[in-house]
Amino acid sequence: MSPSPLFYQAGPALPEVSHAQGVYLWDDSGKQYLDGCSGAIACNLGHGRSDIRDAMLAQFDRVAFTYRTQFESAPAVALAETLVSLTHGQLEKVFFVSSGSEAVESALKLARQYFVARDEPQRRRFVSLRPSYHGSTLGALGVTGYEPLEAPFADIVHGSLKVPGPDFYRHGDVDDACHVVSVLEETRTIIEAAGPETIIAFVLEPVGGASTGARLLDRQYLEGIRALCDEFGCLLILDEVLTGIGRTGAWFAYQHYGVTPDLLATAKGLGAGYYPVGAMLARADIVDTVMASGGFQHGHTYAGNPLACATGLAVIEAMQRERMLDNVAARGHELKKGLLSLKARFPWVGDVRGLGLLWGVELVADAMTKTPFPAEQNRFARITALAKEEGLLIYPRRTLNGVAGDHFLVTPPLTIDAADTAELLARLERAMC
Ligand code: PMP
Repeated sequence: MSPSPLFYQAGPALPEVSHAQGVYLWDDSGKQYLDGCSGAIACNLGHGRSDIRDAMLAQFDRVAFTYRTQFESAPAVALAETLVSLTHGQLEKVFFVSSGSEAVESALKLARQYFVARDEPQRRRFVSLRPSYHGSTLGALGVTGYEPLEAPFADIVHGSLKVPGPDFYRHGDVDDACHVVSVLEETRTIIEAAGPETIIAFVLEPVGGASTGARLLDRQYLEGIRALCDEFGCLLILDEVLTGIGRTGAWFAYQHYGVTPDLLATAKGLGAGYYPVGAMLARADIVDTVMASGGFQHGHTYAGNPLACATGLAVIEAMQRERMLDNVAARGHELKKGLLSLKARFPWVGDVRGLGLLWGVELVADAMTKTPFPAEQNRFARITALAKEEGLLIYPRRTLNGVAGDHFLVTPPLTIDAADTAELLARLERAMC
């Protein structure tokens, strides 16, 4: 067989997928895999949903694609209204895109154009956390705090400030107000040294996703960041590409904390793996200011097409109809209990943290000192390979900034039932033995 012309990343040859149903996938040899990470935290409704297919086919038969500057479409308007209602009207405007990177990129560009329109062009830099991941396009990469991805583009993408976020595993408990105070003070010092008048916005995930292994922020920290943004006159952009659309048990993760952003990016779960759909939501006055000064200079060809929006709408309607957020809470509780008992059993499981059906497991060489495994041991890759052998997909990462070590995410579809949650934990336990 000649080598495939496809290239994504280095690594072993991959099995060929055959088909999928619910939380399971099969490869062409007949091996079955439990999708413990929803692909890349995208297939939130599991695979093979006939209700989503029916909605997509109905729209396909009417019209699949129109360009957003030529026609309005009923699914686009309905999905925009639905998204606004999920924020309880706190964010009133919606701009559609096709991916998470595009959603973040759109928020960055809208924020910059807002300040240009307000005659504050000196605001030209963003503040974000290290470690963090906000996307692969150059703007989104510019606010990403992840050295291996940043390094080749350091001369092209520069100017953003990277500040440390709270790390309750290494520096205190979730209740440890002192840690939050010191992180916020350090952040203030860095921003004051750079010049608060140069800042466009703070960009962060309300619950850390893949880059931190579901590291939790807390209400006090997010309130502190909101207060800093208000004091310095800059905006708060929340990246809910991964956490949005129910993943943490609320429609948007910020709703757990009562801190409202000015702009929000979401994607992955919105199309739920059935079609690429993302959205940037914004405060109406920000959009009005930009629109009054010549419009938003940004857009992508496939953004907001009728088929994409009909898919997003069908996903949210299915979630509402089936009260999926209740299932997230119930299954999240079981998953947490199971992961904590694995932590009690295996000394190299340093931390288990998360919210809803977004769980991170951090692996350490020494649980007492919380020392990460040496990079060359490739623990995150090994545990992922062992899990795959056991028929379980998990989502691994190693954070290389000296802040955290190996971790993996357990993020099954939001539709998973109790029996499959138990099966997921059993397969994970076998992989860890
Ligand atoms: N932001 C976050 C928090 C993400 O997790 C991701 C994807 N992993 C992105 C942005 C980029 O999304 P996409 O891959 O759809 O461009």
